Amino acid sequence: MKAMDVQNPGGIHLHSFWLARADDPSLELWLRVVALAFGSHRANGHSQFAAGWVAKWFHKSPSQLSTAIKTAKAKGMLGAESTSRCLVLPPGVTGGLGHPFDPCSVHGRIKKPRDEGF
Ligand SMILES: [Zn+2]
Repeated sequence: MKAMDVQNPGGIHLHSFWLARADDPSLELWLRVVALAFGSHRANGHSQFAAGWVAKWFHKSPSQLSTAIKTAKAKGMLGAESTSRCLVLPPGVTGGLGHPFDPCSVHGRIKKPRDEGF
């Protein structure tokens, strides 16, 4: 019997851990983008950024950033609705400041809780 068959415990992560990973150029860009999302999300699972800010912060082109976001989505590490303006955590990842149903300035109204749909 595997432990995950019996329990599904949660954990706590600090944004500072993930932001340090996001700032690590030895990691692949898609993983750094995931780390930025995990290091800056609010309780609704969304992290909004000014247009062009994320690519500039990584010193990458918009095209390189787009490819990294697509890769992270394909690997299940970012929500399918993620864009360069708003990185969204995958379903099942919860927590952060604010309220789980706070609207997103990019995506609008949040329709379902973070712990559903995975
Ligand atoms: Zn959003």
